[in-house]
Amino acid sequence: MNRRNFNKLLVSSVALSFTACSSLTSVSLPKDKKRVVVVGGGFGGATAAKYLKKFSPETEVILIEQNENYYTCPFGNTVIAGMNDIEYIKHDYKTLESKYKVQVIHEKVAKVDGVAHTVILENGDVIPFHKAIVSPGIDFKYEKGYVEGSEMYSPHAYKAGPQTTLLREQLEGMKDGGTYVMVSPPNPFRCPPGPYERISLVAHYLKNNKPNSKIIILDQKAKFSKQGLFQEGWEKLYGDMIEWRSVEFGGKVEKVDPMKKEITTEDEVVKADVLNYIPSQKAGKLAFDSGLTKGDWCPVNTKTFESRIVKDVYVIGDASIASKMPKSGFSANSQAKIAALQITRKLRNKPIVNPPKLANTCYSLVAPNYGISVAAVYEAHEDKIIKVPGAGGLSPMNASEGFRATEAEYAVGWYKNQTADMFS
Ligand SMILES: Cc1cc2nc3c(=O)[nH]c(=O)nc-3n(C[C@H](O)[C@H](O)[C@H](O)COP(=O)(O)OP(=O)(O)OC[C@H]3O[C@@H](n4cnc5c(N)ncnc54)[C@H](O)[C@@H]3O)c2cc1C
Repeated sequence: MNRRNFNKLLVSSVALSFTACSSLTSVSLPKDKKRVVVVGGGFGGATAAKYLKKFSPETEVILIEQNENYYTCPFGNTVIAGMNDIEYIKHDYKTLESKYKVQVIHEKVAKVDGVAHTVILENGDVIPFHKAIVSPGIDFKYEKGYVEGSEMYSPHAYKAGPQTTLLREQLEGMKDGGTYVMVSPPNPFRCPPGPYERISLVAHYLKNNKPNSKIIILDQKAKFSKQGLFQEGWEKLYGDMIEWRSVEFGGKVEKVDPMKKEITTEDEVVKADVLNYIPSQKAGKLAFDSGLTKGDWCPVNTKTFESRIVKDVYVIGDASIASKMPKSGFSANSQAKIAALQITRKLRNKPIVNPPKLANTCYSLVAPNYGISVAAVYEAHEDKIIKVPGAGGLSPMNASEGFRATEAEYAVGWYKNQTADMFS
């Protein structure tokens, strides 16, 4: 069928069905059931698709994800530090198809049209929906000399996959006595403890392989997540190998030369052997192209995660504004379950759950057997999410070696459970 005929068929609403789970021919809305299209198969989207089918098997759920495999950022830092192979963080969508009957399409979405209630693929196919969930993750702001293509020289590795491998290779190629420089982004950004866990594990690698090396963090912030716990661990495990410079005291970046691996700050030019520049962030491009953004992120009704701009389109995960929740995989997973639940209730003409509860836990490895964590429970109110007082908490300072080792085991357990919850 050529493209013109395909579009004609859609316009005249002739109902065809999917010929195969992963290859779309053409579709119109099913007559006997509701259809929810989920865009993006990461922490938010994969969870949402699975839980929609669990909550309402009668609903047709289509997941559209551009890649056949998903590489998690969580535990990506262990790959960079040589503790795990890249295969460790690789997942696919086969079980979502076979066990949960989610229809998975591997294509890039050009736009979600909330007025027409259609998802438009880059290949021109058009998929109508009753409700859509969008979880496109983040994109990066090109800034201060860090432009498109700069990641080939100075990888951010803040989307996992080829850049994770590249940063790993650069670290392996670095001379003993070299300098690893990270630029850590301003708030808000994906995974607040992520850069500092990475520095910890890079330090672990360097201590064991290139002990004369040095790490400098040029931070675009005055403080960071779990700062006391990280700094306690750095001092204990890595001595003075890591130097953290806050935005107020030498960290502020004026200009970057990714090819030369040089950073100009207010005071000096810092030369790196490996430069890990993590740019400022914003919602994924699809959110902008679909008119879901206000400023850099997507405003949502925090009780349902329905967009405040486009009706019947729900935005979850890093792209949404859901503070106080951090932009994390666990948050995206929790938000996905709430969106799936509220959509199911709306489609069944039942009142929504009010107020919904959400949760987040972030584990970080300071070394393979040294873990720290922060956890919180949240309640969604009219237009904001608040922390439930007394629920959750932070790892204690000055804990024993055994305590830290147990937290490291919990971190591995968290990863296995979380990815099983998404993909198995
Ligand atoms: C170094 C690092 C460490 C981290 N560690 C942790 C951790 O320990 N714990 C934790 O909870 N979180 C952690 N995170 C954060 C976590 O990775 C993110 O918060 C999470 O991935 C957000 O999920 P998401 O669904 O919003 O986006 P993503 O997981 O990025 O998923 C977005 C998906 O949408 C797809 N997509 C985008 N646009 C399109 C399009 N136009 N068409 C089709 N598909 C599209 C993408 O291919 C992608 O698969 C870490 C992040 C980093 C960088």
